[in-house]
Amino acid sequence: MSQQQFESFTASSLYCEKCKAAMPVRERLLLVLPDRELYDYLCTNCASSVGQREVTAGEKVMARAASPRRSRRGLMP
Ligand SMILES: [Zn+2]
Repeated sequence: MSQQQFESFTASSLYCEKCKAAMPVRERLLLVLPDRELYDYLCTNCASSVGQREVTAGEKVMARAASPRRSRRGLMP
C-alpha cells in the first residue's frame, strides 16, 4: 500500500537547496493583501526560504478545511 497525500505534503515539506533534501518547512505569513495572502516557507533546519505561496481568500477557506490539525504555538523555551 502506498497512499501518500501529496497535497498536504507540499505544504509541510519542501526541497531545501542548502540541506539538499526535502525538509519540513515552517509557514510564515509574509504579506497580506486585500484579496490574497503571501506565505513564505522556511526550512526548519537552516531557516532559509525554500518557497513562497499565494493564498487567495477562496483557497484559504479550503486550506483550513483540508487541514483540521492545528499546530499549537506552545514552543516556549
Ligand atoms: Zn535547509
